[in-house]
Amino acid sequence: MSSTLSVRWTIAPAIAPRPLINCNRCGGVKPYRCGEKFRVNANGKRIDVWLIYRCVDCDNSWNRTILERCNRHDIEPALLAALESNDPAFVRRHAFDTVALRSRIGRIEEFPDVTVRKELMGSEPGRTAALALEFQLEGTTPLRLDRLLAGELGLSRSRLQALEDRRRLTTQPDGAKALRKPVRDGLAIRLDLAGEADCNAVLLAAYR
Ligand SMILES: [Zn+2]
Repeated sequence: MSSTLSVRWTIAPAIAPRPLINCNRCGGVKPYRCGEKFRVNANGKRIDVWLIYRCVDCDNSWNRTILERCNRHDIEPALLAALESNDPAFVRRHAFDTVALRSRIGRIEEFPDVTVRKELMGSEPGRTAALALEFQLEGTTPLRLDRLLAGELGLSRSRLQALEDRRRLTTQPDGAKALRKPVRDGLAIRLDLAGEADCNAVLLAAYR
């Protein structure tokens, strides 16, 4: 019985989603990019916090509400400090929260660009043809699973489809047409490359 090469891919979207806003300066619907800064407004005990976006063409600003008329005593001091200092991790968490942005503005533009960090789980196995991948996502992405795998493993999308048809590629949770759907957090993949001429090259690409 052969062992399995287990690898975790941590996938970070590279470009934050952009709301499509009717720009009152340009006069037309334009994407607004995240300015990576919060605006904190304290009015007595009440605090409002916005994340600032800017029109890609004219730099006009749009304020996305993060906290609205919150009582200062209800906000953790560490949270307030993070907001006031534009803590990059905190900016990122909000900027890449596609669900919250979409619920606020309706129309958004998403980007499939990601960076992938590959981490070997356990020791390097000897001869094997079995690959187990698990995905950890730092934000949502519209990137399709087959495009991600094709780009990272050097397999064509038609070949990935053929492997799936033969049940040599399986996804967990088992979803219909998973290859054509966006990659999501917690997805796991098993790939059996026994007898494939480029088996070693594909397995190497999975973790290097
Ligand atoms: Zn504009």
